[in-house]
Amino acid sequence: MKICVICESPITPDYGKKDKKLGLVRCSSTDPDAFMVWDNGNNAQPVANGRCCNDCRDTHVRDARVAIIEQEMIEAGDVTIH
Ligand SMILES: [Zn+2]
Repeated sequence: MKICVICESPITPDYGKKDKKLGLVRCSSTDPDAFMVWDNGNNAQPVANGRCCNDCRDTHVRDARVAIIEQEMIEAGDVTIH
């Protein structure tokens, strides 16, 4: 079990199953057709070096990346913040 470098909770693997129409879809690990798709978590950059859980990706990491992109756009003169 891998540990999130940000919140230090275990990284829960992503499970999926084959759907006839949609192909691979996400599902609960308790689904009888489920198999583990990915258990390495997410890249925690630029918040931390290492892997993070989905919760931290959806909060800290995503916000930090958006902030960096916004800063780069401001520096490039693409946008102005009023
Ligand atoms: Zn986390």
